[in-house]
Amino acid sequence: MNALQNNVINLRAQDLRGRARRRADAGLEQQLADTARQLKHATNRMLEQQREFEALALSLQQQADRDALTGLYNRQKFDTLCAAEIARGKRYETPLALIMYDIDRFKNVNDTYGHLVGDKVLIETSCTVAGRMRESDSLARWGGEEFMILAPHTDLEHALLLAEQVRAVVDDTTFSTVGRVTCSFGVTALCEHDTVDKLIYRADAALYQAKRSGRNRVEFA
Ligand code: GH3
Ligand code: MG
Ligand code: MG
Repeated sequence: MNALQNNVINLRAQDLRGRARRRADAGLEQQLADTARQLKHATNRMLEQQREFEALALSLQQQADRDALTGLYNRQKFDTLCAAEIARGKRYETPLALIMYDIDRFKNVNDTYGHLVGDKVLIETSCTVAGRMRESDSLARWGGEEFMILAPHTDLEHALLLAEQVRAVVDDTTFSTVGRVTCSFGVTALCEHDTVDKLIYRADAALYQAKRSGRNRVEFA
């Protein structure tokens, strides 16, 4: 083999090596691009699942805090809110009022129209009252047809006005199911050594007084 043939062979070998390297590089780049695409897809899916999980957790938390029939806060959530507001009221020496109300002669509604209509009345009255609440007030279904309005930054005088407004709006509303419905109200305000139980006890006593005095009225303790 002469020198010329040798050079030709070397050049050919060089060319082949170059092509092989370029093919390998192109293959690697393709693999890299595919992996990057898969990684991006997996990351997006993970973020999506995280968002879904957070939304589900929030929804479960909200369901746990709410009464299934009316959508208002339930008793457990009310107790938590009430304890927090009492602590805040004492700490910052701000007023706090509690209004407890109960539908009058509700047993008659169930007996006359049936339990399903009774349920509808509970929903309708809840919507009517919720419409009168301020952003800072909390409305809760505390028992069967007993409800609580927790009103921070509200003294007894203003709580009585609020209770009277709610009483009047329920009294003036014509409900699609049974026409007229009335409620009785017991109002109280935070005292120095109050606990949740003491506050509720006074509101309940005032409510009892409203019932005894003829219903569809507001009393305070
Ligand atoms: P008062 O004016 O003294 O409050 O009379 P009332 O008949 O409303 O009072 P009472 O507490 O004796 O009766 C409440 C009734 O509320 C009895 C119960 O069957 C009914 N009730 C409680 N929870 C529900 C509910 O979720 N749905 C329906 N439809 N009725 C309920
Ligand atoms: Mg009742
Ligand atoms: Mg009752």
